[in-house]
Amino acid sequence: TFHSLRPNVPLPPPSHPLSLTDYVFSLLPSAATATASSSITSAIIDAATDRHLSYSLLLRQVKSLTSSLQSLTPLSKGHVALILTPSSLHVPVLYFSLLSLGVTIAPANPLSSQSELTHLVKLAKPVIAFSTSNAAKNIPSSLKFGTILLDSPLFLSMLNNNEYVNADSRTRRVEVSQSDSAAILFSSGTTGRVKGVLLTHRNFIALIGGFYHLRMVVDDDPHPVSLFTLPLFHVFGFFMLVRAIAVGETLVFMHRFDFEGMLKAVERYRITYMPVSPPLVVALAKSELVKKYDMSSLRYLGSGGAPLGKEVAEDFRAQFPNVEIGQGYGLTESGGGAARVLGPDESKRHGSVGRLSENMEAKIVDPVTGEALSPGQKGELWLRGPTIMKGYVGDEKATAETLDSEGWLKTGDLCYFDSDGFLYIVDRLKELIKYKAYQVPPAELEHILHTNPEIADAAVVPYPDEEAGQIPIAFVVRKSGSNITADQVMEFVAKQVSPYKKIRRVSFIKSIPKSPAGKILRRELVDYALSCGSSK
Ligand code: AMP
Repeated sequence: TFHSLRPNVPLPPPSHPLSLTDYVFSLLPSAATATASSSITSAIIDAATDRHLSYSLLLRQVKSLTSSLQSLTPLSKGHVALILTPSSLHVPVLYFSLLSLGVTIAPANPLSSQSELTHLVKLAKPVIAFSTSNAAKNIPSSLKFGTILLDSPLFLSMLNNNEYVNADSRTRRVEVSQSDSAAILFSSGTTGRVKGVLLTHRNFIALIGGFYHLRMVVDDDPHPVSLFTLPLFHVFGFFMLVRAIAVGETLVFMHRFDFEGMLKAVERYRITYMPVSPPLVVALAKSELVKKYDMSSLRYLGSGGAPLGKEVAEDFRAQFPNVEIGQGYGLTESGGGAARVLGPDESKRHGSVGRLSENMEAKIVDPVTGEALSPGQKGELWLRGPTIMKGYVGDEKATAETLDSEGWLKTGDLCYFDSDGFLYIVDRLKELIKYKAYQVPPAELEHILHTNPEIADAAVVPYPDEEAGQIPIAFVVRKSGSNITADQVMEFVAKQVSPYKKIRRVSFIKSIPKSPAGKILRRELVDYALSCGSSK
């Protein structure tokens, strides 16, 4: 077993009732929360509108919304709320308010298709949804308490109700245990369709505690300003948001990815730090546009969510010699950051995702024999520690396949540790495809392909792509007499899934290679696709 080499960080005793909201606000430096009139510190800036939310207003709005939700809705502890919205200044307020009421948040991609949402609702069982007029159209009408629109006058009045802010007694305190569910985030895990990953307040308290106490000190920058294009419904975006608030930084959001808009925001807000996914590093390393903007404030780029190619990182270093770049690694199932690069010395270990995060343990296990391996040897990474999920909601079978009886999470990633404790991710053993760091579960696409009357059989595997990391390629067996084309196959799937899950290549094949037990031999298909460069 490998143990974290970082110092243990002090965490509140686990039995002490504490919501993630209360924990984060207790860490927040007092300078950030100074009274409304004297405080100019922005917690969050919306780059699209240049609207600023100061720390003091954030706290007031959380108080107001929490009380409003208590008195105007039947929401109470243990309920689940679906959240379906692009990033906006309202999202953090909503997250912190619901969490302080003990309501479990279930944020999902606002571009989800109707059938995807139906599946998520079946998994998470929300009683209410929070959405925007644009995103709400696919939400099933069956939710018990309906949908509250974030762009409605009702919601705005809930956010800014002074009566509630001033009269503390109006809010009934809800006692939230750290073991209570905080969030259901969606992930397909190592195999199969999307599942709901149940993460507790304690999972995030442990994670944020680590990031708070072992902070990356970028120079002696007194006030880091970070910019992110990460979605707030994914674990990476979620915990980076909570982390930024806990340490009192200023966080700049972008609604949707717009490369030049991002460069403009770096210049305008003097951005010092950006958590990114690898496609953004590719874009920065290659773009001529970066020369048009003043990027001199930028000190550090933290890449995660998918593998960062060695050459890409080198190209980036050549283009930005003054910017440090380091990686972090984690899964939705591990609550996010399981390993990360900390400080300039560690970021010199090119190609590594850093060292195991504080309070975490790891094993490298031979995928065939189950034997634990030593440094330098490659095997499946298993993780254990306080940030690991409780399980998949309502799916004991999938939970038991992923978490063993001793609490080890099987990551499905092929990895090794070097003798200094640096972790390297070599390959992915699990089915999962990552398109621009977004999860594309092959089983879900195969399920859709099987519903096409012209398709006899199908399998979906990853195909390497410089810009996206990987794209899904479908191997399709036509039914006899069918002349279905690649474009028709792609269109058939595209109509039913979020845009990032589209099939981008199709190859027709006589039969899908399978094991005697009927399992698709994915590795064979991956090798086959690579060997023929595949015809589109
Ligand atoms: P998700 O649950 O969407 O965060 O996906 C987790 C998976 O993304 C991991 O199991 C890895 O396969 C992959 N991943 C995340 N970070 C990295 C990284 N820094 N390098 C390589 N793969 C990564």
